[in-house]
Parts: sequence; C-alpha cells; structure tokens
Amino acid sequence: MRIVVTNDDGIYSPGLHVLAEVAAVFGDVRIVAPDVEQSSMGHAITHARPLTYRPITIDGFEAYRVNGTPADCVALGCHHWDRVDVVLSGINLGLNLGNSAWHSGTLAAAKQAALLGKRGIAVSAPVHENEPSFESIKPHLARLLDKLLHAPEVNLLNVNFPAGEPEGIRWTRQSVRHYDGHVVPGKDPMGRTHFWITVVPIEQTEEGTDRWAVENGFVSVTPLRLDITDVEALNAIEEQIPLTLEDA
Ligand code: MN
Repeated sequence: MRIVVTNDDGIYSPGLHVLAEVAAVFGDVRIVAPDVEQSSMGHAITHARPLTYRPITIDGFEAYRVNGTPADCVALGCHHWDRVDVVLSGINLGLNLGNSAWHSGTLAAAKQAALLGKRGIAVSAPVHENEPSFESIKPHLARLLDKLLHAPEVNLLNVNFPAGEPEGIRWTRQSVRHYDGHVVPGKDPMGRTHFWITVVPIEQTEEGTDRWAVENGFVSVTPLRLDITDVEALNAIEEQIPLTLEDA
C-alpha cells in the first residue's frame, strides 16, 4: 500500500512524524507537507505562482517540503508517485470538528485525495496546555487505521481524538452549530483598531455528532462526502418552483 502523509501544521510538526511512524506499519510512506504552517487555509490551491519542493529525510522517511498548501501537497504527492492508495493528513495539533470542515487544511488534504480518486483520512487531536499525548494516541490510531484501511467502502474520513485516554470509539455525523458572530474590536499598541472574530456557539452539542463523541471521551470517526448538495432542499424546490426555458 502506498501512503502519502501530509498535514497543515507544516513538515516539522511532531504530529506528522507520529502519523508517518504509525502509517509505516501498513505500507510505503512518503511525506509531502507544507514548508510552513498552513492551518485554516481550507482547500486553497496555489495557482498564480509556481510550486517547488525540497527533498529531505524525516525519521528515515522520504519527504518533500513544499512551498504550498495542504491540497497542493496532495496534488504533487499523487502526481510524483504512481498508484497512491491513501493520503493520511495530520495528526493536527487541534481538533477539527463540525464547521471546521470548511476551513481546515488538514481535512482539505484528505478531500483533495478523494477528488483524485484516492482515499483520504484526516486525523486531529486536541491541544490544551500541552501538546497531545502522542504516545497514548499511537496504539489507538494503529488499531483504527488497521480497521479503516481494510474497509474500502469509506473513502473520506475525519478522525478526532479526545483529550486523555479514549473511552472508546464512535461513528459520528458532523456537528453543525451556529455561532454568535460577534466581532470584538480592540486597540493595538499603536492605537490602531483591530478585531478578533469570536466563535461562541449558540446551540448545545447534539448527541451522535463528532463534537459530542470527543467531549465524552470517544474517538470520533465521521465519513464525509465531496457532494455538499442539499438533496432534500433540491427535491422540494424543484417541485415548488419549477424552472422552465422561459425563466432563463
Ligand atoms: Mn493545523
């Protein structure tokens, strides 16, 4: 099995190195990751300047340090290596739950893999005062990957670890909570106004969601899809507002 390992925290992130180490049990690993942090870049791709990379070695792995986004790394990695089977992205230093699917670079790398017809699995862990306890994550991640990599029917997955030793593992759906949308102004030392966008959720965590699982000490595994069409709404609106040639 050919495995590309990438992330959005940058090629020197300890989470990436742990993921590569665990992945190596299942196949041949190549690391292709951004040269600097690309967190919250979402599915951005580089299109107005050329991409370059430097080959390096990380913990004995063939690695490429790319001056681009996570999605760029996956595109390059799959271009330069024939028959890549799966892209693993992470382990992100910070959870990627709910709405972060839209801005997460970690998830974007897995999505890019799915767009290229490969399997993509994003892995994230919470950061509080300390970095995640990678030593305690390792055996759980190895067992999980063993299961997931032998289940070809799921090709895009978002995995989040809870803080501390996991109580178990759950299949979950994406939590979507609305935010209060407050933008808090402040002053910088030069007296200029700046802003912080706060993210205070309005609703409670719903049972069965990714956030619920992690809050309750479980590893969360959410199958995602690339098609975000609201099929229910589409069917309803087609009935309600039929569009004809004359409407065009
Ligand atoms: Mn990140």
